Amino acid sequence: MPTAAQKRAETIRARRAQQARMQASIDAVKAAVATGKCPDCGRAIKRNNALAGWYQCTQFGAEGFRADASQPACNWQGFTE
Ligand SMILES: [Zn+2]
Repeated sequence: MPTAAQKRAETIRARRAQQARMQASIDAVKAAVATGKCPDCGRAIKRNNALAGWYQCTQFGAEGFRADASQPACNWQGFTE
């Protein structure tokens, strides 16, 4: 059985790992936004003002919502904060 101190250390380790993953994701989205190009399909990125820091590929979503309905959809999106 792990001790209380061991459990606490594991909780802290897991939280730090999660924070590192979130920061890596934010950094990757910021880098993509800086280029203005979707890292998946190369099309433009747009901001979605529904949530702070939300960016999506202009080809995100169903026909009628994406920039060019004749081109395939792209699922890239992310947050910068
Ligand atoms: Zn895309």
